Amino acid sequence: MAVDALCSPLGPPACEKDAKALQFIEEMTRSADAVQERVLAEILSRNSDTEYLRRYNLAGATDRETFKSKIPMVTYEDLEPIIHRIANGDRSPILSAHPISEFLTSSGTSAGERKLMPTIREELDRRQLLYSLLMPVMNLYMPGLDKGKGLYFLFVKSETKTPGGLLARPVLTSYYKSDHFKTRAFDPYNVYTSPNEAILCPDSFQSMYSQMLCGLYERQQVLRLGAIFASGLLRAIRFLQLNWRELAHDIRTGTLNSNISDSDIRSCMARVLRPDVELADFIEAECSKDNWERIITRIWPNTKYLEVIVTGAMAQYIPTLDYYSGGLPKVCTMYASSECYFGLNLNPMCKPSEVSYTIMPNMAYFEFLPHDPNSPSAGSDKLVDLVDVEVGKEYELVITTYAGLCRYRVGDILRVTGFHNSAPQFHFVRRKNVLLSIDSDKTDEAELQSAVENASKLLNTFNTTVVEYTSYADTKTIPGHYVIYWELLVKDPTNSPTKEVLEQCCLAMEESLNSVYRQGRVECNSIGALEIRVVKNGTFEELMDYAISRGASINQYKVPRCVNFTPIMELLDSRVLSNHFSQSLPHWTPERRR
Ligand code: AMP
Repeated sequence: MAVDALCSPLGPPACEKDAKALQFIEEMTRSADAVQERVLAEILSRNSDTEYLRRYNLAGATDRETFKSKIPMVTYEDLEPIIHRIANGDRSPILSAHPISEFLTSSGTSAGERKLMPTIREELDRRQLLYSLLMPVMNLYMPGLDKGKGLYFLFVKSETKTPGGLLARPVLTSYYKSDHFKTRAFDPYNVYTSPNEAILCPDSFQSMYSQMLCGLYERQQVLRLGAIFASGLLRAIRFLQLNWRELAHDIRTGTLNSNISDSDIRSCMARVLRPDVELADFIEAECSKDNWERIITRIWPNTKYLEVIVTGAMAQYIPTLDYYSGGLPKVCTMYASSECYFGLNLNPMCKPSEVSYTIMPNMAYFEFLPHDPNSPSAGSDKLVDLVDVEVGKEYELVITTYAGLCRYRVGDILRVTGFHNSAPQFHFVRRKNVLLSIDSDKTDEAELQSAVENASKLLNTFNTTVVEYTSYADTKTIPGHYVIYWELLVKDPTNSPTKEVLEQCCLAMEESLNSVYRQGRVECNSIGALEIRVVKNGTFEELMDYAISRGASINQYKVPRCVNFTPIMELLDSRVLSNHFSQSLPHWTPERRR
């Protein structure tokens, strides 16, 4: 088919390959309901002999009505006993007829540990398929991306084995280590400055250093710059702030920093390194300036946009990204999870607040639970199919995957903004129950409460208690960090808690937080030291007065456990008596503790 023969709202495509991808999107979204019906039938027929489906007596039925009448909606906690059996080595077809190839460790946690999502080998093809649709869409809005490269800061994280011998690792680590990524075909529209060796190095310093070095050498070729999440891109900028002298030295001399010991990186960097005095002078001149505003466009002057997720919790980083990039467009391309990749943004140049993701109906079977904060226990009889959601309404996403998750609640709340053909488009509203998030960590109210309780035990010997607390995700520092405001009741002012004890309280809170938080602190350095700000007595009463003055009911007033409204922050900060930071890192090892 000739490229220009494709008559699509998503066109004209940049090349023949793009035409096929765009046509695929059109086909899938035009027949969204039929595709969903086929996906469900495929999943149910291939998994009909699994222990899980047999439990519900489907008797071989693969239709929607039987599925909806017999299969319950579940949470991770409901599936945990099964997940543990698989993790412990039970290879019988429990959830999926296809062997579970590995576990993907979600950034969502259960009992403080990452959730383990079973996956099957062919899911890699599905993920790859979604990736293959992103550039064809991008090329519609941004011509000429084949004339340069992308500087993307991509990382692998540590992996472990379950007692039964299955690998457990994050979905992106699994993808980057797969042949799908490592031996991907050359695509002029998708050339990265980072070599695979740098991306695949498990040491985050060495990986970042070599990716940054390559990005600096190719500064004129870089047309787009990104990371998965906004927090990751800002971490790269911070890394440059801390390491530009060493990087410039390497560029000046054509040698590699001796702290980079990974042999694969060293041999691949030998092909990149060359002495370039002019470039080294330029980097030193730019980076030694006090003002780092627009540093991204100063160093990479041809950058057309930033590719980072700035929807959901990551929206808090938009002002900082704008500061460093001079307001370059921020492109959010896709919406995905460890459980399943969901969909893509068909209008990638839109403003972050307007981003909507079109769910691709071939990825899994999707259902939607109308979200009503007043009746959170709504049952599966309320579930709505993909094509039946209504514009303007909010839903919780529920998925049935090829890997065997059935009517599984993902925990994301989405609002329908419109349709592309018959496929709905969703604004990501938020993840349920998340109070604090800096990077991929998600801390809920119960976790924060128990962290405060554990830390406040250290105050017992000082006859001191925490009377009230609230929290704030401070993203003005890079990396961002948790701030916990404490109002203390010191019963014996001659024996009030010392600075050292309050610092230990910071660490005790960190020790109590979930493993994704602690990994961010220890392995990824993506979260800064937790801070306690002790506020004057009576501050929380003032907070209540303020809320009541703005219309809150006295009877129903509850202390907000997380704040981010500027007048409230100003009130709290104006009452701070002292602030304290964790002086060491919490405990974290890649080993699973169960
Ligand atoms: P994980 O299971 O750790 O891979 O995290 C998946 C979760 O990250 C999703 O369920 C969402 O809550 C969040 N997420 C993924 N993509 C996006 C996006 N584009 N915008 C906002 N949140 C996202």
